[in-house]
Amino acid sequence: MSNPCMSCSIDMDCCKKFSGALVSQEEYDRLYAKFDGRFRIERVGRFLKLYDVSGEGCPYFQQGTGCTVYDQRPLDCRLFPFSLDHLREGAGGCLKASVNTRVGCPHAHEFPVDEPAIAALSADMARAAGYADARVEHERGFGWLKYLGFRAVRKARRLLGLEKPAVVSPGG
Ligand code: SF4
Ligand code: SF4
Repeated sequence: MSNPCMSCSIDMDCCKKFSGALVSQEEYDRLYAKFDGRFRIERVGRFLKLYDVSGEGCPYFQQGTGCTVYDQRPLDCRLFPFSLDHLREGAGGCLKASVNTRVGCPHAHEFPVDEPAIAALSADMARAAGYADARVEHERGFGWLKYLGFRAVRKARRLLGLEKPAVVSPGG
């Protein structure tokens, strides 16, 4: 499938921002543990979610070159421009999630959708993180609206003290 990320009009903003990358423990240990302190880390189900707090973006992004670890990049990066949202664990340890193009991507409408490839990569991500398998639902049309609603509810719960962000130590 052709990849609009290669001609991104906001200059590969996703790699530069590196805000919310979903990685397995193995991917964290292999790629990001050595940059300890550069990320805020949340545990989301069996994944770790990394937020760059240094303002430098992904340590593997190089201006003009792009990804310097392309063949070893995390599965979440391979899933680009799609991302998994609304993660929850279902029966038998199966990951249930929705998948959509990234919110805020100016090229979202340009991506060809390859359903089998998305399903296969999502399942690989789930198994790498320790789930038995994955069932992903591809959100269409107003998926972004559902996503914003989900975030608003979550933020309100945090403001009301009903939910605390799960900041964790890697491996913890
Ligand atoms: S997903 Fe969209 S915003 Fe992110 S790098 Fe690709 S084209 Fe750019
Ligand atoms: S590992 Fe590569 S593709 Fe993934 S965010 Fe970093 S530079 Fe981008």
